[in-house]
Amino acid sequence: MRIGYALKLMISRSENMRRVRGKDTGPELRVRRVLHRAGYRFRLHRRDLPGCPDIVLPKYRLAVFVNGCFWHGHDGCKRAALPHTRHDFWAAKIAGNKARDRAAIEALGALGWHVVTLWQCRLKDEPSILDSVAGAIRNGGCDAEAHAGGQSGDIAAQAD
Ligand SMILES: [Zn+2]
Repeated sequence: MRIGYALKLMISRSENMRRVRGKDTGPELRVRRVLHRAGYRFRLHRRDLPGCPDIVLPKYRLAVFVNGCFWHGHDGCKRAALPHTRHDFWAAKIAGNKARDRAAIEALGALGWHVVTLWQCRLKDEPSILDSVAGAIRNGGCDAEAHAGGQSGDIAAQAD
């Protein structure tokens, strides 16, 4: 009994840690699965790169960020609405996160990396994820915004 309880406690703690670190979250796993199925080769959380991109496609020198809308302040997104309580605190925190994201994208660009940002609220359908990534590869990186609802059909994911 006691051992079972301790084990449960340990498991729930590590789950909690995982959530706090913000890595291997649902949205990111989803993107990874989609890219994997499409035959892309990628690496995860390259700490040696600015901003520690969630997913990196070395072949295309492409860094992919999978952003939670709230934490990264997705412009004009419902999910990014700030709480009424402690509004200033949250506003400052999210502004800081956004500034860090911008700096990372600039630094990656300076190192010759392309960058695509995938927003949590836009991950619902697989084709649009592939669309954004394929578009970024074609155009040398851009924000996924520009591709949302854009072309589809002609973009086949290239296998490595
Ligand atoms: Zn959003």
